[in-house]
Amino acid sequence: MHKRVHVYIAKELFRKLSLPKDYERIFVRAIVEPDNWRRRNPRRKHHYLQHSTILGYVNGARRAYINGDISACLSCLGVALHYIQDAFIPSPRTKKLRKIHARLEGKTGLYKSETLSMLRDAINEGFMVSVSSPKFIESVLLNIRWIYDEEEILKRAAKASAMVTAAVLGPKDPPSGLHEKYRMLKKEHDKRVLKASIASLISLATGSILTLLFTDLFALFLFIFFVTAPILSFGMIVFSDKEFYEVKEEADWYGIQ
Ligand SMILES: [Zn+2]
Repeated sequence: MHKRVHVYIAKELFRKLSLPKDYERIFVRAIVEPDNWRRRNPRRKHHYLQHSTILGYVNGARRAYINGDISACLSCLGVALHYIQDAFIPSPRTKKLRKIHARLEGKTGLYKSETLSMLRDAINEGFMVSVSSPKFIESVLLNIRWIYDEEEILKRAAKASAMVTAAVLGPKDPPSGLHEKYRMLKKEHDKRVLKASIASLISLATGSILTLLFTDLFALFLFIFFVTAPILSFGMIVFSDKEFYEVKEEADWYGIQ
């Protein structure tokens, strides 16, 4: 995405945040920063969706916001938004795509006044539909695709940026009941981990004893079985606790320990 677009979107988003003007500089600097990293190290490409990198920056921004560190929040958010905006433009990884990329990137830099009002509308819409939750962020990221029309790229990039920004700087107070629900599920989860650990240890101990009783290949087979089975079952028991992990993500979003 053209630098001018990153900066314009950042300034429009910032206007909606009603924060002291001094912070704007930090936000604008962060939103163009990934291109400086790439210039310094050309292997650091970012024109494809780097899901976990973006999530890392978004969660970092939210954590900083919860802790009252607006500068750190805007720095992380700016970087995340840069990656999100660029991910709408096809990556220049083949000769044909390089041409398309250069054309679209060039065109997104030459916008007219109608384009600016379209960007503002997209940002307003993004703020309106945004929900402050990690699930919502996930859904925004899942909907990012390469687009081959420059107007549509700008619109989608601006709207996604607004949705993420409004979510990160959304309410700090958790929804009612979340605290209690998380505490209850955590208790259950800890019990589950304990049970799984004991079962795995018993299985390992049994395996070791049995291995001593048999010789050769059969012993080896037993050994492998009694080592892998407890590890797999431990993983299955602990990580299948889907409800806990979902609520944990939500709790993390509000800084609940
Ligand atoms: Zn870029």
